[in-house]
Amino acid sequence: MSLIPTPEMVKPKVRGQSDFFSWQLYRYLRKYPYASQQRIWAGTWNSATGIDPESPQLYIGSERDGFWIHARQLRNLCCHNSGLERWAYGPGHDTRNWTDVTEAFWADYLKKGVCAIHGDFAHEWDEEGDRRTCLYCGQVEVKTIVMKPHTVWQLAPVNTRVEGLTGDIDDKRQRNSIICNEERA
Ligand SMILES: [Zn+2]
Repeated sequence: MSLIPTPEMVKPKVRGQSDFFSWQLYRYLRKYPYASQQRIWAGTWNSATGIDPESPQLYIGSERDGFWIHARQLRNLCCHNSGLERWAYGPGHDTRNWTDVTEAFWADYLKKGVCAIHGDFAHEWDEEGDRRTCLYCGQVEVKTIVMKPHTVWQLAPVNTRVEGLTGDIDDKRQRNSIICNEERA
């Protein structure tokens, strides 16, 4: 049994608008109807930093054909008003190290909707007091006040501002007492 949903299973309620499901991904499934065109890859290449195994990106596309995978970066596909074009990724994109995550992704998508694609950029928050819950993926966050370190310049204590004050303790004491006497005067 294939875990890839049919287009009707993931169709947003209003035409052209994403809700729990992505309108763009629905369009993709209509345009590329075969399971062999609906593979999901964790790709080790991205347009910003090139080959980057540390931060794999999700791609949707075809099965691997030799070194080649015809695919589209999923977040990019699911941008509002984006087209449905796919690109040919090859050896220069490290495709031999791309991992097929088709089953895991589609299961995640049916459970979390657009949050499975966009992560923290997609949550639909329901806020109540100091607590908010994502209506899509169920993530819960609590409001927290964070104290940030902040560097300032402060006036130094008086006795450290005396010019020529040196290491000799008796000398320091003497000078401090002079300052005190002057202040008392
Ligand atoms: Zn969410």
